[in-house]
Amino acid sequence: MQKILFTAHCILNTASKVVLYNQEEIDAEEALRKTFMRGVIDNEIQVIQLPCPEFTLYGAKRWGHVSDQFDNVFFRTHCRKILTPVLDQLKEYLANGQRFEVLGFVGVDGSPSCGVDYTCRANWYGSFDCRTDLPETLSECRLARGSGVFMSVLKDMLKEEGLEDGIVITSLFAPEPDKCLNLVR
Ligand code: SF4
Repeated sequence: MQKILFTAHCILNTASKVVLYNQEEIDAEEALRKTFMRGVIDNEIQVIQLPCPEFTLYGAKRWGHVSDQFDNVFFRTHCRKILTPVLDQLKEYLANGQRFEVLGFVGVDGSPSCGVDYTCRANWYGSFDCRTDLPETLSECRLARGSGVFMSVLKDMLKEEGLEDGIVITSLFAPEPDKCLNLVR
């Protein structure tokens, strides 16, 4: 039986990410990503790469955002549109359960889009120009319990299909970096 795993786009392709500047954070993520990918290869797990909702809407030069900014009908509609073919693939693998075992979905905790148990939040909006409160505004960003918007839409869609109980949704990276590694051991 072949094992099937759906993963956030940037777990396979870090070029899709917002540019990071914290080298310690980059190194820690890369170490985890490699551990995860080695597990995938060693255990002959087949990976389906989810689309990156931010890259496909805002491209490579986007700023970092918080989930409050993406939590609007337009971003949610975009997520739903790009997740629709993914859900079709999921349903086809599930319909052929004698050949395939769906291990679940792996997101990226801390992301405004792909966070599963943690996302980043703040009351951010407005132009940078002529602002005097920018450092205070940026420092409001905090890790918060809850899903990013893309994962929230995914959960809604699974529920609409009656699939929410059977599908594992977990994530890689901080603040609980090891929790999804059991899937690939
Ligand atoms: S939106 Fe998701 S897939 Fe895209 S870079 Fe952020 S965490 Fe990765």
